Amino acid sequence: MAEETIFSKIIRQEIPTPLLYQDELVTAFRDISPQASSHILIIPNKLIPTINDVEHNDELALGRMITVAKKLAAEEGIDKKGYRLIMNCNEHGGQEVFHIHMHLVGGQPLGRMLSI
Ligand code: 5GP
Repeated sequence: MAEETIFSKIIRQEIPTPLLYQDELVTAFRDISPQASSHILIIPNKLIPTINDVEHNDELALGRMITVAKKLAAEEGIDKKGYRLIMNCNEHGGQEVFHIHMHLVGGQPLGRMLSI
């Protein structure tokens, strides 16, 4: 059984965080430490620790994360200029919170995809 992270408490609003979107599958809120002028996290309500733990029956939630990203990008006014969606996995991917999440970042030029 995977251990809950702070994100489960945000989903249940046990830690009050303004939500930009929530439905039966996903929740979205602003990153506490934004790396660009727009930086939103979109997460499945179900606790899935890493992308390696994704199962076929998670596909609806994973697809919803993309459609919610598109909707929020338009609401943020960053859709036309563009943005980046990022999902990190484990140590080399730089994952810090073990409840999968999609970063929606934009609002400024983001440079090259990787700086290693
Ligand atoms: P990762 O490195 O795992 O891909 O990204 C985790 C993200 O979660 C980081 O960008 C970090 O700033 C964000 N984060 C961590 N704790 C909190 C929190 O309590 N509230 C919010 N809104 N974001 C958080």
